[in-house]
Amino acid sequence: MMIIEFFINSCVFITSISVLSIFFKDKILISKSSTTIREKLFIGMIGGLLEILLILFPIKVMPDLSINFHALPIILSSIYGGTLSTIVTTVIINVLFYLIFRFSIVSIFFLVINLFLIIGFIFISNTKTTIKNKWVYSTLYSLVVSSIGSIILIKNTQLLVQFLIIYYLNNLLLTYFVYKFMEHLSKAFEAYRTLRTEASIDFLTGLNNVRQFNKSLHRISIAVQKKEEIQYLSLIFLDIDYFKEINDKYGHGSGDIVLKNLANILTNTCRAFDIISRNGGEEFSVLLLNCPTADAIQVAERIRQNVEAYSFHISNKTTIHITISIGVSTYPSLTNNIDNLLSDADTALYKAKNEGRNKIILYKGNSLQNGFNRYNIVP
Ligand code: GH3
Ligand code: MG
Ligand code: MG
Repeated sequence: MMIIEFFINSCVFITSISVLSIFFKDKILISKSSTTIREKLFIGMIGGLLEILLILFPIKVMPDLSINFHALPIILSSIYGGTLSTIVTTVIINVLFYLIFRFSIVSIFFLVINLFLIIGFIFISNTKTTIKNKWVYSTLYSLVVSSIGSIILIKNTQLLVQFLIIYYLNNLLLTYFVYKFMEHLSKAFEAYRTLRTEASIDFLTGLNNVRQFNKSLHRISIAVQKKEEIQYLSLIFLDIDYFKEINDKYGHGSGDIVLKNLANILTNTCRAFDIISRNGGEEFSVLLLNCPTADAIQVAERIRQNVEAYSFHISNKTTIHITISIGVSTYPSLTNNIDNLLSDADTALYKAKNEGRNKIILYKGNSLQNGFNRYNIVP
């Protein structure tokens, strides 16, 4: 019978934690600053609900002696939610005990026990140590408090020893299950968050990567064709001039510094809602929403000038300057098939390279035209 009750208790825990985890898969629960007050209250309430479920499934050890794991939800609340969650969970338990036992010796006894428990748990949860240590300390502490409680309640020594052995075994086994499950969830969700970020963000520069660029372009293409909020879509495609020489002369690490700084220049030069990506190696792009050709060329020229003027500090002693070549395309005024927006900008960029670099070329229908470069403006 006891094994079945133990199994039910394990299921109650695992199910509750699984449900709770759905809401927190984007969060790192361990760092308490990352959870908002609302989330802390939520964790505390789930801890309280878990208590209600546990009261329904006590493990009967002897005819009038049963154990339940009422300290475990408070431990969960304290480790993963902090002080506020712990208090919420404890208030719920005590209200519950009051509703069941009213003002009796039992409810006052549990109130005192719980008070001791939460003071200890809050103290342990606020110490700077690993999650694993918090689990160990909190569990040992709860066993000590419950043992003292049992010694006061159970007068018969033989019964007491028997009860405590069963209690320790059950408690340690279940705590170990729950701890392992929490550890598994933390690792699985951490891997999920990392993969999700890496799937869309370029590791070196923090800009969108090419996959995210393609996704955004696809999404925006649909919106532009429907002429919903976006009427024009311009694309700036740029590539560093003679970047290979920088790598060869100063090393790959210096090349990376240049790429990171270039990403910053792009972010600072463009508007917050422009979509800036690193499309590969030393190729970058900016998708400009609702930006007609003339404006796009102005943005491109501003980028070109800012890059040309910028001093890239690749070491304490060395400062270098670079230039970039830019191709620009715009839908629908110059590129009439939106699927060609990228290849048209690339064609224009290729021409900018061929025409001597450090310049902007605009893709204009079938004929390529100079946008403007640092020497002259060609209409
Ligand atoms: P061009 O003016 O014609 O663009 O000449 P380039 O030397 O810039 O062009 P090329 O495509 O020949 O060289 C690009 C170089 O960029 C080659 C590659 O080693 C380097 N590169 C690609 N990805 C990275 C990176 O992540 N970090 C560093 N440091 N270099 C990279
Ligand atoms: Mg290059
Ligand atoms: Mg290149």
